[in-house]
Amino acid sequence: MGIKHSSRCLLLRRKMAEAENVEVCGGPSQPVQPVVLPKPVQLVQHVIHTPIQPSCPGRGKMAKLLNPEEMTSRDYYFDSYAHFGIHEEMLKDEVRTLTYRNSMYHNKHVFKDKIVLDVGSGTGILSMFAAKAGAKKVYGIECSSVSDYSEKIIKANHLDNIITIFRGKVEEVELPVDKVDIIITEWMGYCLFYESMLNTVIFARDKWLKPGGLMFPDRAALYVVAIEDRQYKDFKIHCEYDRPPPPLYSPHDPIN
Ligand code: SAH
Repeated sequence: MGIKHSSRCLLLRRKMAEAENVEVCGGPSQPVQPVVLPKPVQLVQHVIHTPIQPSCPGRGKMAKLLNPEEMTSRDYYFDSYAHFGIHEEMLKDEVRTLTYRNSMYHNKHVFKDKIVLDVGSGTGILSMFAAKAGAKKVYGIECSSVSDYSEKIIKANHLDNIITIFRGKVEEVELPVDKVDIIITEWMGYCLFYESMLNTVIFARDKWLKPGGLMFPDRAALYVVAIEDRQYKDFKIHCEYDRPPPPLYSPHDPIN
C-alpha cells in the first residue's frame, strides 16, 4: 500500500493551514516560525445522529459529528477523515485501490448474492466494488462525517439500493442483520500497525462474521530491516543540539 496514515495527517494539516494562512511547523527546510493558531470557532451542535458522540480510535479524534459544510479546519483536525483530501490521497493510491478492486472483481463468484460489511467505509469505494462484484447487500460503517459524502457518491452511482451506510463507531453501531458473509476493510497504517484500526476489525469479525465467512484482506506480511540514521541518532539520543536538526522526510519529497 502506498500513502500511509501519518503522512496523510501531516499533509492534511498543511493543507488546512495553507487554507487559513496558518504556519505549520515541521516542514522540510522551513525556518522556525511562530505557530499562529486558528481563531476559536463557534461550536456547531446539531446533526448528531446518535446520542453518543463518538471518536474514531487511533486515527484522529473526532470531537463531535458535524455537517462537512459547517466544519472548520479545527474540526477537520480532530476528525481528520472527514476531509476529502485524505480520501483523495487514498483513492489515488493506485496500488491500494486497484488491489482492492481486483480482489473483488476477480472473485465475483465469491461475492455473488452475499451480505458484505465494509468496516470504515470512508467514501464508500470498497462498498461500491463489492456491490459491483455481485453482493446482494452491503453495509458500510463510518464514524467520520465523510459518510455524508459517501451516501451521495453511492446514490450518484445508482448503488443505493444495495449499499447502506451507518454513521457511527463500529463498536457502537447496530446492524439490521446478525451475521455477514464477507468483511472488507482497509485498516493498515505505517509499518502496518501504526495508528491502525486492527482492534476495530477484530471486533467486527468476532461480532458479525459468519463461521466460515471471508475477510478481505485476511493476512498481512511485515518485512523489517534494521538501519542506522547517524544524524538522527546524534540529534535525538546524543543530544547534539549544536547541529541543525535533521529534516523531516515525507514520502512525497523528491529523492535527491
Ligand atoms: N474504506 C475507505 C476508507 C479507509 S480509511 C477506503 O478504502 O478508501 C479508514 C476509515 O475507517 C476512515 O474513514 C475512518 O474514519 C474509519 N474508521 C476508523 N475507525 C473506525 C471505527 N472504530 N468505526 C467506524 N469507522 C472507523
